[in-house]
Amino acid sequence: MEILEMIEKAGVVGAGGAGFPTAVKLAAKADCYIVNAVECEPLIASDKYLCRTHAKEILFGALTAAKTIGASRIVIALKKTYREEIQSLEKAIAETKAPVELFKLAPFYPAGDEQTLVQAILKKSIPEGGLPLDVGAVVNNVASVYNIGQAVQGKPVTHKILSIVGEVAKPVVLTVPIGTALTDCLRRARPLLKEYAVIIGGPMMGRLVPEKEHLRGEVVTKTTGNLLVLPPDHYLVRHAAVPIEKLKKQAMTACLQCRMCTDLCPRHNIGHRIDPHIIMRNAFKENLLDDNAYLKAFGEAANCCSCGVCEMYACPMGLSPKRMNDYFKGQLKAKGLRLERNQNPQAIANIEHRRIPTERLVARLGLSQYENQRVTPVNVDPKKVKIPLSMHIGAPAVCVVKKGDAVSCGTLIGEKNGKISANIHSSIDGVVVQAEQGYVEIRKGEAK
Ligand code: SF4
Ligand code: SF4
Repeated sequence: MEILEMIEKAGVVGAGGAGFPTAVKLAAKADCYIVNAVECEPLIASDKYLCRTHAKEILFGALTAAKTIGASRIVIALKKTYREEIQSLEKAIAETKAPVELFKLAPFYPAGDEQTLVQAILKKSIPEGGLPLDVGAVVNNVASVYNIGQAVQGKPVTHKILSIVGEVAKPVVLTVPIGTALTDCLRRARPLLKEYAVIIGGPMMGRLVPEKEHLRGEVVTKTTGNLLVLPPDHYLVRHAAVPIEKLKKQAMTACLQCRMCTDLCPRHNIGHRIDPHIIMRNAFKENLLDDNAYLKAFGEAANCCSCGVCEMYACPMGLSPKRMNDYFKGQLKAKGLRLERNQNPQAIANIEHRRIPTERLVARLGLSQYENQRVTPVNVDPKKVKIPLSMHIGAPAVCVVKKGDAVSCGTLIGEKNGKISANIHSSIDGVVVQAEQGYVEIRKGEAK
């Protein structure tokens, strides 16, 4: 079987959040293959754990993927502050003599943003709305790379490495079957408060669940990498609750036009046309969105990657350019409006002077007390799992099992449906107890 077929068969998708089918991404030719082990957002600890514990498997996955795309340069990118992880990867490189270089970035946010990362490594900016492939590179998250290595050894994606940090008695890094309830995972970390909020992902771009009751029904997917437990009155929770109409009024009345949001915007600084201060200035002209004269101002919102630097760090007035951009992005999409894309962006000179030190960002977010929490590794062995048939970009997989079927860990339960889709496998041994409404529920035990 061809390597791409094995990766497709194993259901490998982008594990860093996007969930794009990896076999489709690797069906290309590029000079440079980049493993993104930067772990972009503060506090997350899952990719670092993988680098410390599975360095040789990561190298194997990277060599496999690089061979597939014909890359002559293989780079693992991570932050220079990840001392143990660098040590572990350097040892593995020395022992295997793998032709892999480590690219050590300064600890800034968002170092792991694909476009920022490629510009830092290749010194070339990706065109607006483009892909790393446009400048000769393919990028995979380190957990996807690990899964690529497993796939070519016939092992499908069944488990996830997931850190739980924040307001907990025991910060953990779980190795957990996909489909495990998030409430089950959280119990292992022992939250310190009776009531709490959870961010699924990182503090800057993760999805906020404001009350623990709303976690019911949420499960570990192929893209879940971290849970951040917070007090319900934490700044991040209160900030996310402000409605868009109020944010619009704030933009119209309180923006100083100091342009700090634009000067620190990572996409602006790699040369993309995104000037959040201009969008804020024009917020009161929303009714002119269709007017060509204003399309330049509003159309730039499409180049925003929602990293949150502008509103969580840059703005001295506590305004929300990111959420205004998100809002206008939605409006532009609904009206089918699009600014012509700049195919030849150029990064500003001395770009490194405009980068946000992660430590300062953590302090600004009110998260310093959770920084550098040491995570304990724990294997989770749930009695049941509820596996979604859609954990990826593209069409949901088609269920191929029915109630009462006996399955083992690794049995195919959902078959990819079209080019952009992914296979789904059982993550435990057991019996199918439900197979409907986009989920397959499996319980441990024998079939009757
Ligand atoms: S969220 Fe703000 S800082 Fe980030 S890309 Fe968008 S405009 Fe720029
Ligand atoms: S940083 Fe804040 S106050 Fe300054 S221009 Fe941007 S939104 Fe306005």
